[in-house]
Amino acid sequence: MKLFTVGPVQMYARTLQEASKQLPYFRTNEFSQIMKDNERSLKQCLNLHDGSIVTLTGSGSAGMEAVVACSFRKSDRVLIINGGSFGARFVSLCKVYGIPYDTVSLAYGEALTNEHLSAIDGSVYTALLVNIHETSTGQLYDISILSRFVKQYHLYFIVDAISSFLADAYDMDAYGIDCTILSSQKALSLAPGISMVALRNRFYEEMIAPKDDICLYLSIKEHMKNMQRGQTPNTPAVGIILELHDMLSYIEEQSVAHMVAQTRKKAVYFRQKAQQLGLIIPDYPLSNALTPIYFPKGNAEEVYQYLKEHYDIYVTPSGGDLKTKVLRVGHLGDVTLSDYDALCEKIKEIL
Ligand SMILES: *Cc1c(COP(=O)(O)O)cnc(C)c1O
Repeated sequence: MKLFTVGPVQMYARTLQEASKQLPYFRTNEFSQIMKDNERSLKQCLNLHDGSIVTLTGSGSAGMEAVVACSFRKSDRVLIINGGSFGARFVSLCKVYGIPYDTVSLAYGEALTNEHLSAIDGSVYTALLVNIHETSTGQLYDISILSRFVKQYHLYFIVDAISSFLADAYDMDAYGIDCTILSSQKALSLAPGISMVALRNRFYEEMIAPKDDICLYLSIKEHMKNMQRGQTPNTPAVGIILELHDMLSYIEEQSVAHMVAQTRKKAVYFRQKAQQLGLIIPDYPLSNALTPIYFPKGNAEEVYQYLKEHYDIYVTPSGGDLKTKVLRVGHLGDVTLSDYDALCEKIKEIL
């Protein structure tokens, strides 16, 4: 089986080995030390100096939900960049929790530009919420445009970087990002099941700490209290936390810049080959995490099925309106340039 998906992705041998071990009991000093180590390392990877990391057991959407539910109330108003199904998830969360919001809505294929934001009076908002890489389309939004906007209007800047972290350059301090949401199964290439929320101290103290909880399992306050001693309120996904610990030591050895460069190299290599095959790649700015391929004849599903049935190769199908038109080829995890040679050969055979 070969996964060119965006999560879960092809896992590294070291992670599979880590995952095969007996899990330890977790209310111990040793496990607390691992949690603290993960926090230190993730802060370094994100370039967050004054902040904390909480680890939630739940997929990335749990991280999104915890942040929305614990940070905002009816008295706030947030601005959401909605350019696909993950932007729409922030919209759904605000609806469920009764948080007033507006959106910058992008049509399929429309790139986010400065003009979208310069038309908006930001002074009515508490925060800007964005999925910096909208995974459903592959668009990577220009963080400098968004950063300028939040700085101009003194908004909190909440970024879901779940599918962009380690694939594209990212820097919380440089761009004034107050909160970053990550999850285990994208570029970290671990099993799905945990999400990590990085919180700048000021954001936590001003927006989360003073509020009464409206949920318990996803309470960021409860997680922060427990994290003082390197623990979680409930039994966490112990195994994935250990996988994370192992992966972070590898990333520290290699450097984040190296990880991003490796992913970029795969993306550039595949895009060149795909263009040689006559495949259509959209022209909006793309994350290194994946390449969307547009099938004008509407045969995306057939190509997906053929690769799966004949070769046990998985690319990422699309949902909704894009189902028959767009496949996404992932560049995360343990895939090599020669894997892309093989993939392109198979695609050529189908076409
Ligand atoms: C994968 C992903 C998520 C989380 O989805 P889950 O299925 O809950 O893990 C959230 N946002 C983005 C941008 C993603 O790519």
